Amino acid sequence: MIDLHIHSTASDGTLTPAQILAQAITIGLRAFSITDHDTLSGVQALESVQIPAQIGFISGIELSTSAPKAWGVAGSLHILGYGVDSRNPELLRTLAILRESRDQRALKIITRLKQLGVVISSRQVAEIAGEGVAGRPHIALALVQAGHVADISEAFEKYLAHGRPAYVQRYRIDAAEGIGLIRAAGGVAVLAHPGVYFGDDADRMAHVTGALQKMGLAGIEAYYPEHTAVTVSACRQVARQKGLLLTGGTDFHGAIRPAIKMGVAEGAMRVPDALFDRLRAAVTTLSKASSVSAF
Ligand code: AMP
Ligand code: ZN
Repeated sequence: MIDLHIHSTASDGTLTPAQILAQAITIGLRAFSITDHDTLSGVQALESVQIPAQIGFISGIELSTSAPKAWGVAGSLHILGYGVDSRNPELLRTLAILRESRDQRALKIITRLKQLGVVISSRQVAEIAGEGVAGRPHIALALVQAGHVADISEAFEKYLAHGRPAYVQRYRIDAAEGIGLIRAAGGVAVLAHPGVYFGDDADRMAHVTGALQKMGLAGIEAYYPEHTAVTVSACRQVARQKGLLLTGGTDFHGAIRPAIKMGVAEGAMRVPDALFDRLRAAVTTLSKASSVSAF
């Protein structure tokens, strides 16, 4: 099994990068990636750690981008970047801006909640987030701890989800810019969980994926716990038609999403091991192609 979609304490996961590595070894993953929201600090933390030769690791990130209105995507469109250089100055500069916009949004959400009579403190949210970039799941956990809601899903349904009363927009880069940044940092851009946006609608998926491919997208995340078998086969069909890579992962977040276990996606959602080598080969090919075109 491989798992190419994992969040650490650098964003809204509850395991540190070192704990993720330890768990990946314990459960016998063949390969994994850390794909935190809008940050590379979890990936950077693993760079000073000896990763055993039997387990493959590829750097990752999950950028929250904005999509053209016509695509009908509510909230942000997530683009995964694999094999990016975690020290790329341009990417890091943008990530610093996004971190600031996340901090500002968290404060605005807390104010909005207060206006609704739901009080949580910014200190409590900061404590939950720790070193991590602030995300709505941290606020959701603060709402649970303060007894305002029973669990994280209720926090989203009642307050935090797109269209709910404490939803606050924040600055996002657009999809083309996100893909461009990933490519300029030597990475491969992959559309995260297309089923979350398009369900089983293969035509819409093909239309949007085609537009993203023109911007430099190289793959789609076909294997994902929320995908139905129909979605997985739609992804495979779209990828075959367009010559895109397939990837997959669990979106493991640790205790913040306890139902999702690292490396466990059953049946049609099982991520084939061979995808890791293809992804790594694509990173090498693309980075060679862009260094040639730079001359
Ligand atoms: P953010 O990037 O801070 O806007 O938070 C987005 C993250 O919140 C997603 O990647 C999910 O992990 C989580 N999330 C979004 N919607 C829900 C929901 N309805 N229930 C639980 N978690 C959610
Ligand atoms: Zn994710």
